[in-house]
Amino acid sequence: MIPDWPSERRRMVDRQLRKRGIRDPRVLDAMLAIPREEFVPHDCRVCSYQDEPLQIAYGQSISQPYMIALMAELLELTGTETVLDVGGGSGYHAAVLGALAARVVCIEIIPALARQAEQNLLRTGLGGNVTVVRGDGSQGWPAAAPYAGISVAAAAPDIPEPLLAQLGDPGRLVIPVGDRRGQELRLIVKSDGGTHDRVATFCRFVPLRGEGGFR
Ligand code: SAH
Repeated sequence: MIPDWPSERRRMVDRQLRKRGIRDPRVLDAMLAIPREEFVPHDCRVCSYQDEPLQIAYGQSISQPYMIALMAELLELTGTETVLDVGGGSGYHAAVLGALAARVVCIEIIPALARQAEQNLLRTGLGGNVTVVRGDGSQGWPAAAPYAGISVAAAAPDIPEPLLAQLGDPGRLVIPVGDRRGQELRLIVKSDGGTHDRVATFCRFVPLRGEGGFR
């Protein structure tokens, strides 16, 4: 039996997002609209809307829906911004950001995953304003900088300097920072020439690779 995806999505938005305090109506609408089942491996499609991360290829995972919604909400996007999505994976997170911003650059270090993200976005028709690039996102993607929002979906030992440099003013960066076992999800806000920083929650992401990642 084919699950009723729209009602699974609605249930996820109500139980996992609204109940836990996600309020931004644009984020809730985006999560209601994006078909997560189209971004997960075929054999775990029935798990698409479970309250947990989902394994994709190469030992990577798509974050739990709540984590993606929280990270998106923290960016306070209005629809006019250029956003950098570091750690493209399946392309799901990029699709959500694409619904919230004017333009998204989605960077992925594993070539096969970059291809997969691109194909998923193309197949679902959600890639119109998302550009998938291959490379080390810990160095950002200077060609499209500055970014009003930067979202990092892999754990970093520290905030990579190039990401701070490519963050616009005003700009907001969300990134899990810590060790391999656990991290703080940090929000860095740049405005009026200054930056401030706060911890939004605790989390556990797969490690960031590359220059600014774990060696
Ligand atoms: N946001 C993704 C899943 C993130 S999993 C989704 O919606 O599916 C973390 C991803 O970060 C993995 O795909 C991993 O290959 C990628 N990654 C790790 N280090 C990276 C780096 N330095 N630059 C770009 N991508 C990186």
